[in-house]
This record gives sequence, structure tokens and C-alpha cells, in this order.
Amino acid sequence: MKNYFALLFALFLLYGCGGSNEKKQELIPYELHGEAQGTTFTVKYLSKDSLDLSREVMDILVNIDQELSLWVDSSELCKFNRQSLSTRYIDSSSIYFPSVFKLSKEVFQRTNGAFNPAVMPLVKYWGFARKSEHPEQIDSLKIDSLMQHISFNMVQLVGAGFVYAVADFDLQLDFNAVAQGYSVDVIAELLTKNNIEHYMVEIGGEVVAKGKNAQGEWWTIGIDKPKDNNTDRELQAVVQLENRALATSGNYRKFYEKDGIKYSHTIDPSTGYPVQHTLLSASVFASDCGTADAYATAFMVMGVEKTKEFLKENPDLKLDVYLIFSDEKGEFKTWISEGIKGKIDEEN
Ligand code: AMP
Ligand code: MG
Repeated sequence: MKNYFALLFALFLLYGCGGSNEKKQELIPYELHGEAQGTTFTVKYLSKDSLDLSREVMDILVNIDQELSLWVDSSELCKFNRQSLSTRYIDSSSIYFPSVFKLSKEVFQRTNGAFNPAVMPLVKYWGFARKSEHPEQIDSLKIDSLMQHISFNMVQLVGAGFVYAVADFDLQLDFNAVAQGYSVDVIAELLTKNNIEHYMVEIGGEVVAKGKNAQGEWWTIGIDKPKDNNTDRELQAVVQLENRALATSGNYRKFYEKDGIKYSHTIDPSTGYPVQHTLLSASVFASDCGTADAYATAFMVMGVEKTKEFLKENPDLKLDVYLIFSDEKGEFKTWISEGIKGKIDEEN
């Protein structure tokens, strides 16, 4: 999440559509666009009745930031991080913090700590946090000492979710690897609650799609080529999302180069260093977007082979994955898990 929160809202009432033969009643397509969490978002939905949800969407995004943003000093997460205490409290009206905390614990345990929101001190050290700068010289002793304070096992939820027992005073959390996907789920839930059966919600590339689009087809989503210059966006593939969520993590999104070495914003909690391997981007398909987002980050830590092994060993998670990696010659190669073969159209 970024240091500003601006919502530029536009609501377009497009045109009535009767394209799909499965729909007798005319559906009205709506589109909302705006900025949130330091990126852009799009919500598209088809409604039987005239239904403007722009206000509700905006409220959700503001409330999520108020709980989970590292860019909002008064957020519950920032308050939590400032409490150097063994018992920490968040506001009892919080709903998003406890829910993201629980999801994070689950993914942390499943991935053996590859996904770890307690990695915050290292995110700061490497200059990927707000107000932090890239280190001039890499100090391995400093990294070792920070490694003593990144154990997510040191924090436990007590009771309903407003009280946390923390065994390490220096523990700090960063939910940036999961919060965007989770926000997509919360907006999707709003649409479902309003009896909307056809929609697509996207924040900064993390997506949930339900039902069909205005043309009566499955929603399609582009996956970026993992190119280092973010300015000219090129697509690597187009995927069909059939009632599913999709999140992508990539080392091309936030990184810097020093002495010919590329340092990206995904930290390997087992080494304390930014991940260094051939995996350039991991797109994860799951039933919800928070889960997809968290695993996408974990797979960037694991790399290509470990991700394949993980999928084999954890079929109950029902994840699918599209990996883009570089071969010895530096050329892009891809790997598609069984469940999404035929739903991905690669652009070359
Ligand atoms: P994403 O783009 O979803 O992969 O999230 C990347 C962000 O998550 C980084 O900018 C850090 O703030 C944070 N992060 C970095 N490494 C990890 C990790 N191993 N586990 C959880 N969060 C991480
Ligand atoms: Mg993520």
C-alpha cells in the first residue's frame, strides 16, 4: 500500500445488454474505476436493477486501509507495530485485521514460513518499506540480528481477534503481500450480498471473477510480461477466469540494482535476503483472492521447482499456477499447472 489514498471514482452506466442467451432479463453493466492502496482498481458488474455501489466500494477501501495499511499512521496495523509489548490490542471494531491475520497464519504454516508477514524488519532493511532506504553497504551482521525478530510464531491471537500475545517485543507485521487480494474478496462479497451474479473485481492486478461478462463470455484477464521497465506494459498471456480468483507476484514490480545484482521486494525469510532465482513471476489461481495473493508471494520465495513440489504435496488447496521464469540464455519460459491448461492463451 502506498503513502496516499486517493479515490477517483467514475461510475458509468453503459448500455443494456441482452447478449447472453442464458439471461432473459436485461442486465445493466456498471463500471467503477479509481485509485486505492497505491494502485488502480476496476469493478465491473451486471445488475438486474439500477444499482450504484460506488459509495459502498469506497467505504470498504477506506476501512481496509484504516486497519491494514502501513501508509496510514493511524491504521490498526501501524498501532500494532508501535506497541512494543507482550500483549497488544487492536480496536475491537476491527474485522479485516483479525481475518487477514488468520489467513496469514494458515499460509505461513502451509508454506513452512516462505510466506511470513513478520518479515517486516527485513523489508525495512532492504529499503522496500515506507520511509526506508536501500542499504549503502550490505551488512550481514545486521541481517543476522534482524533475523532474530522475524518469527511469526511469536504472535498468537487471543480470543476473538482484538488481543494478541506477542513473545518478541520487536515483532512487526507487514500484510502487503496479502491485503490487496483480500480487499478484492471483500468487494466481491459486497457484490454477492447485493445479489449480483456476474462481476469482476480487480485491484492492482489481483482479480476475482464471477459469472460472465456483458457479452455472456467468461471474464478474461491479461498477465504481464515480467519486464523490468514497468512503463510499456506487454502481455505474456490472457487467461479465462471461471468463478475464480487470480493474483500475481513478480520480481519485476519493485526492485533496484546495485553492483549488477538485482534486489527485489520479495524477501526469503530463511536467508534474510531478497530472493535470487530464475522465477520472474508467479500467478496463482484460487477460490479466493487473499489466498491467491499470499501463495503468489510464497511461490516467489520457493522458486520454480519447490513450487511444483508444493502443488503436488498440497492438492487439497486446489491451487493452479502459471509461472514465468528465465532459462540459462535469459529467455522467458513458462509452466502451467494441469488444472488451467486450455484456459491460458500465451501471446506468442
Ligand atoms: P506481493 O507483491 O503480493 O508479492 O507482496 C510483496 C510485499 O510483501 C513486499 O513488498 C513486502 O512488503 C512483503 N513481503 C516481502 N517478502 C515477504 C514474505 N516472504 N512473506 C510475506 N510478505 C513479504
Ligand atoms: Mg502476494
